[in-house]
Amino acid sequence: MRALTISAHGGLDRLELRDDMPIPEAGPGEVRVRVLAAALNHLDLFVLRGLPGVTITPRWVVGADAVGILDGTDDLVVVNPGLSDGTCEYCRRGEQSLCVNFRLMGEHAPGTIAEYIVVPERNVARIPRQTPIPEAAAFTLTTLTAWRMLVTRAKIRPDEQILIQGIGGGVALSALQIAKQVGARVWVTSSSDEKLARARELGADETINYRTTDVAREIRARTGKRGVDVVVDSVGEATWSSSLGALGKFGRLVTCGATSGPTVTMDARRLFWNQWTILGSTMGNDAEFAMVTNELCEQRLMPPIDSVFDISQGREAFARLESGAQFGKVVVRVAT
Ligand SMILES: [Zn+2]
Repeated sequence: MRALTISAHGGLDRLELRDDMPIPEAGPGEVRVRVLAAALNHLDLFVLRGLPGVTITPRWVVGADAVGILDGTDDLVVVNPGLSDGTCEYCRRGEQSLCVNFRLMGEHAPGTIAEYIVVPERNVARIPRQTPIPEAAAFTLTTLTAWRMLVTRAKIRPDEQILIQGIGGGVALSALQIAKQVGARVWVTSSSDEKLARARELGADETINYRTTDVAREIRARTGKRGVDVVVDSVGEATWSSSLGALGKFGRLVTCGATSGPTVTMDARRLFWNQWTILGSTMGNDAEFAMVTNELCEQRLMPPIDSVFDISQGREAFARLESGAQFGKVVVRVAT
């Protein structure tokens, strides 16, 4: 079968489309999915370049999101790429993304950009056949991640103000859509006026270009020094101090990533004086997967699609993601 693979870490030239990969066989409790489309996430770039502690075996299939047909049926399914053992104390508590053996497809287990993939049965969810394929392919990882951040962890409310750093990436856009669905007032930042204009079309109330404007100072100025209630930060080092600078009293900062670098600092006095809460979040549990899949079935929270590439254009797809110029998800079509 065909699959987009890497056999060593490095640049885009390491990506290899192969057509001699073995079709995987489903074991007990597993199902095989004939993949129609997959979507790229920033994680895929990290895997390509190499991550500390993550070892790939040669002919490693990349990709963490997928939509396809449950093999042997006509059922359209989306795949939850978070794999858990189902037995540890956190799994038994229903917190699968805290599993002591948690693995992510494409990172710790073979990925999704392949004609066939095998996953545990509980990692697929049926969706209506008329669901648009690119949006379904791009839906799960970012929506699940953003849902847990905003709904479960930060518990955002309609009367609150939310700052989302770095609009344009999948999680940030999904966070914007969820926050607007809840009814909150949403601030977004970007270095691109074009991305800010498009975020406004998706419902963003306030936009700030962080290249030309001091984000924290601007938010303080526009809120009468109050600041926002919740900051959604998946950027890390580059945005951390402006995120805290914008955070009002009793504020919550929720983070799911550190795409610009992992090391951040904080003045503990500001933490206790302002009674802030710093929240970490990773992927989502099975209950949250069911909740976001229901949104997809109703065609709510549909992710903006930046571009769709054929599997034969894998390098071009990764180059688009690497450029940072995309607004929305980069999708890879595997079959028609
Ligand atoms: Zn577990």
